[in-house]
Amino acid sequence: MSNMVAGSDKVTPIRQQYLSIKRQYPDSILFFRLGDFYETFDKDAEISARELDIVLTSRNMSKGLPIPMAGIPHHASENYVAKLIAKGYHVAICEQVGREPVKGLMPRKVVRVVTPGTVVQPGMLEAKRNNYLAATIVKGDRLGFAFVDITTGEFRATQLSAVDNYQLIHHEITRLEPAELLLSDDASEQLVFTDRVNVSRLAGWKFEASSARQALCDHFEVSTLDGFGFREDGLAICASGAILHYLRDNQEGALKMLTSLTPYSSDEFMQLDTTTRKNLELTETIRDGRVRGSLLGVLDYTVTTIGSRLLRQWINQPLLDVKAINERLDGVSAAYADGVLRAGLRAELRAFGDVERLVNRVLAAVATPRDLGALRTALQSLPLIKTILGEAVKEARARESDVLVALNKQIEEHPVVVEILNNAIVDDPPVKLDKSGVIREQWSSELDSVRSSSREARDWIAGLESAERSRTGIKTLKVGYNKVFGYFIEVTKLNTGQVPQEYIRKQTLVNAERYITPELKEYETLVLNAEEEMMEIERRAFAEVCARVGGCSGQMLNTARAIARLDVLNSLAEAASCLNYVRPEVVEEDGIEILSGRHAVVEQTMLSGERFVPNDCRFHPKERVWVITGPNMSGKSTFIRQVALSVLMAQIGSFVPADVAKIGVVDRIFTRIGARDEIHSGQSTFMVEMVEAANILNNASVHSLLILDEIGRGTSTYDGLSLAWAIVEHIHNHPRLRAKTLFATHYHELTDIADILPGVSNYNVGVSEEGDNVIFLHKLVPGRADRSYGIHVAKLAGLPKSAINRAEEILTQLESKGGRVAPESGPQHQMTLFPEASRLLEELQELDVNAISPLQALNRIYEWQRRFLKNGR
Ligand code: ADP
Ligand code: MG
Repeated sequence: MSNMVAGSDKVTPIRQQYLSIKRQYPDSILFFRLGDFYETFDKDAEISARELDIVLTSRNMSKGLPIPMAGIPHHASENYVAKLIAKGYHVAICEQVGREPVKGLMPRKVVRVVTPGTVVQPGMLEAKRNNYLAATIVKGDRLGFAFVDITTGEFRATQLSAVDNYQLIHHEITRLEPAELLLSDDASEQLVFTDRVNVSRLAGWKFEASSARQALCDHFEVSTLDGFGFREDGLAICASGAILHYLRDNQEGALKMLTSLTPYSSDEFMQLDTTTRKNLELTETIRDGRVRGSLLGVLDYTVTTIGSRLLRQWINQPLLDVKAINERLDGVSAAYADGVLRAGLRAELRAFGDVERLVNRVLAAVATPRDLGALRTALQSLPLIKTILGEAVKEARARESDVLVALNKQIEEHPVVVEILNNAIVDDPPVKLDKSGVIREQWSSELDSVRSSSREARDWIAGLESAERSRTGIKTLKVGYNKVFGYFIEVTKLNTGQVPQEYIRKQTLVNAERYITPELKEYETLVLNAEEEMMEIERRAFAEVCARVGGCSGQMLNTARAIARLDVLNSLAEAASCLNYVRPEVVEEDGIEILSGRHAVVEQTMLSGERFVPNDCRFHPKERVWVITGPNMSGKSTFIRQVALSVLMAQIGSFVPADVAKIGVVDRIFTRIGARDEIHSGQSTFMVEMVEAANILNNASVHSLLILDEIGRGTSTYDGLSLAWAIVEHIHNHPRLRAKTLFATHYHELTDIADILPGVSNYNVGVSEEGDNVIFLHKLVPGRADRSYGIHVAKLAGLPKSAINRAEEILTQLESKGGRVAPESGPQHQMTLFPEASRLLEELQELDVNAISPLQALNRIYEWQRRFLKNGR
């Protein structure tokens, strides 16, 4: 292995250069540019060879010491970098800088460090979701959190204060799913909860208020951060400053994308904890983690990737402000009411592409000619989009068009940028800038003159064959080109006698001789030099075009954001129209009224011929808790989730699957889904269940919506029933709680609670019996389910007849005894599962503990255990 510096005279200069650069990036894999390759050495080479499945070789760079080495061609590097990043590594890209060697060595420099949160290459990004880099810091009961997407310029920060900081960070992390999280090197391990986040640790001073504030002020060129709405010593600043430091070290080009830092507060949004996001399958399914089958999957009719990313943000962050919600709903209504507008926008927005990320690439100086072409196409679509909007507004097809007017105003056409791109860049520009021909004629007179002399030279060479044929009279004379000799004139052996004096013989073939002339060589040099010169000028011109286009980045991003919003509103309208949704009335006052509501996702999965049965959910003013009973598979879980989804949809500004919906804004949705419906590993399921229940009871308010599905299932029947009962009572009676609650349960006994508490109502999902069969109606009706159909279901499932009969017998007994297990039942109908156990209990009850010695007690326990194990098991 490399043991370099000991006697640096033994080490080659290039090895020394490598080592000194590597020393600055000990935690990254260093991609060291050597000609057409990126080489990795030493440990880096071993990792690369293993992770990338490439050959590990070695090279003598220190005399006598072979050094492990693995290389990849530079043109294919993006894939390899992506693979390493996906595995959690950081990659430092070290390029040759300058064109001339200095003292025999090319100067080299790390130009960027690619980390999961600082990726900009399109191949490494998911188009339809943001790639966030987040930072967080905790001090006492305060917490700073900041996040940035350097590919879109979104940069936001917040300060939270709460007793349970870790949980709050957890919620932010599950909402945003950052690709990378920055922590100070002394931050607690507790902040790292999930293996889905890559954590990078930074020196603690980068989180300090003074250095953070300085970094931000320098970057935004301001003297105070008040203008952004931040307290100067706040932790939001500390977290944002750390992000800035990190970008400066690793991806300096990205800083140009960050034009502002926006505060946000979790009070603006409906709070959704991690479990609830997961249970409601907002952006991915529980089963396979895919978008398809989630709410996002159903609602996403966007046609641009910027729109798709924004829709994901909206779904993850429902609003609380009625006015803001109605503004969105107005926009959706306007597009919903106007099919022409909707179709027109869908057709035209498609061309808009991903301007956020294109602009970012221009700023980061990694834009390709094709990117500029795509940007031009995008901007050229704007006038038509504005016309379509303008016409829809003019025809005043709906009062709601105010929102469209505002958006139309925000969308600018950027004629200056379009003109630059039109004049500078050819139609259909190539993917790469490795040949001349990207810059259009008349953009640069310098380029044009080189081009025209190059063209003249080419024309002269092209005309040479016929000119020389007629001058020499040799009809078979040919002009050709090969890599070794360049251009030549070829004359067959028969005719060599006619060759003019000035021809210089260069090569002899079997049947022919090849010649050159000084003039031909002169033109050849001209052509070859011209290509190089044109490349040089084009590169310069391209960089200049990028700089000028980049100068308008702020305005373009502003337009892009308006387009994203337009796309999302239009998409929600399209969904509403295709899926038969209705505009909800969203109000401040408490209450939920959904008539003929459906489950947005389940109804999409119905097979043809099946019909989703709509159900009402109307909370009367005094009603707080609905206890919903019904047999397995009747639709309890589906119903309570559909109510939660519809409320959430209304608060993101979407129409909802119902005939009528009136929604009083909900501050939080909590879900607790019973043990059987999910897969847990490690922790006891019952413990998880109770931790979640505790979270709900401690944090819910009167404005919350609680979705409780089969709570108590994780323990024995009587424990479970008692807990369920107590929880309902607590919600109902606690003055701070009284949250609207949908409680699905298979404990029929729980329905009795409605007789005692006025705010509790019973509902059940009906079934009908036809002979021996049970038909699931999926219809919710008031009142309690009078019996469980479990035995019918068991019969349908083919349980042996004798077992079914016995079950019916037991059921009758249980019902006649008011559901209690009765030890006094006759011996042949002994209900206790372990008869010996009840005798043991009796003995235990009768035992006078004070009257026996510890040894006697121990003996008793031994005996009980023996009897229990013998008889019970
Ligand atoms: P439960 O929670 O009562 O056991 P689920 O809500 O899990 O029942 O529903 C079981 C199945 O019944 C669902 O997967 C769905 O296919 C179907 N279902 C539920 N509700 C409806 C409905 N309203 N209309 C049609 N099918 C439904
Ligand atoms: Mg269920």
